[in-house]
Amino acid sequence: MSTRRATPADRPPSVDALARSLASSGLPHAVLVDVAREAIAAGDPASAPQRAEGFRRTLLMPVVNATGVLLHTNLGRAPFEFHQAARPQTVELDLVTGERGSRQRAVGQLAARACGAEAAIVVNNNAAAVLLVLAALAAGRDVPVSRGESVEIGGAFRVPEVMEQSGARLVDVGTTNRTRVDDYRRAIERPGADVALVLKVHPSNFRVEGFVEDTPVDELATLGVPVVADIGSGLLDANVPWLPGAPPAWLAGEPAARQSLEVGAALVTFSGDKLLGGPQCGIVAGRADLVERCGRHPLMRALRPGGLVLGALQELLLAYLRRDVVDHVPFWRMVATPVDELARRAGAVVAAAGTGAAVPMDALPGAGSAPGVTMPSFGVELEGDHLAALRAHSTPVIARVREGRTSLDLRTVDPADDPVLVDAIRAAGGA
Ligand SMILES: *Cc1c(COP(=O)(O)O)cnc(C)c1O
Repeated sequence: MSTRRATPADRPPSVDALARSLASSGLPHAVLVDVAREAIAAGDPASAPQRAEGFRRTLLMPVVNATGVLLHTNLGRAPFEFHQAARPQTVELDLVTGERGSRQRAVGQLAARACGAEAAIVVNNNAAAVLLVLAALAAGRDVPVSRGESVEIGGAFRVPEVMEQSGARLVDVGTTNRTRVDDYRRAIERPGADVALVLKVHPSNFRVEGFVEDTPVDELATLGVPVVADIGSGLLDANVPWLPGAPPAWLAGEPAARQSLEVGAALVTFSGDKLLGGPQCGIVAGRADLVERCGRHPLMRALRPGGLVLGALQELLLAYLRRDVVDHVPFWRMVATPVDELARRAGAVVAAAGTGAAVPMDALPGAGSAPGVTMPSFGVELEGDHLAALRAHSTPVIARVREGRTSLDLRTVDPADDPVLVDAIRAAGGA
């Protein structure tokens, strides 16, 4: 029997010892045990620190968005800052009566006021808003939808599938490129029809050009059934009164909540984290009786957001009502930044980094809003592809590559993060 002692080289370290050696990563011991076990199982204990770092980088973390896509789906759409004390909140307490209250009341009123609706309620996202409206108002009944609007939008929101889940019956009307008010009328007047409402869906993420025609809300509103407009983007008012000057050109064609209601939509549904610029949520706004039926539906219990989201949305809506959106809503601050300001910053970043070129760029609204349109921007261009090195920076920088050059668009970068860009560019050696 051999009595030779195992040396460190031929005996793997214990999982526990290896996990402890990774403590400086700051990850919990239980996670490090998994990492250590994987490294040992792979026969490569020395890879444990990289594996721990690899895990750490899968956690949600803040990054600098230099893509020029303002609402970047992979980066959580609209950036929004919100602080809440670790204190109990009056989520469902009415301070006046001391009785149980509605978590929706105040924020619903603010949302309604912000878009000129009688009432509004808030759910977890716009997909939930559409599902709830259909389930509450149209289960077991017919809902005509234009064939041109039976669309799929981002993360697998597909109109026919949402319709099916809600229990409402989709009635296809018109054609993929042209649908007129008479197409809807025929669906409503068809023998045996039981139309609960007409759904108009904004095809947010693509544009059909040429021989196309859709039926505007004001014409649909003459049909005698409630019109629900899924406007998607959450633009509250087409006149963007919170921006200095005229509405930006790229917003033309985006349906807005206030104007859709004004011309006769009974309800509008939209996302909180697209052009509204706030936390992920969905809003149903419009006629009080219909909003109330949505609020009473049993699905509401499953779709309602928590206090953190309601608190963030409340802060956002107060900023809209105060009209100090540009100061408080990062999305609209990015939109409002003059291009010469971006050019000046790009020049300063290039000078500080000692490399790259300041060049004009085109930024995009993103999140499927306003497809095919851009807004003038400015940024820094580096020769070669430096995406991986920029992502590896301590505060990761997300950029884009075009024609063999890395471009960092400053419209989507908070000016306070310009020094991060400088460091990341230098570390990436982007010469
Ligand atoms: C984005 C969008 C949705 C889905 O909204 P989520 O908030 O992502 O659930 C639905 N309908 C339209 C028209 C949209 O633009």
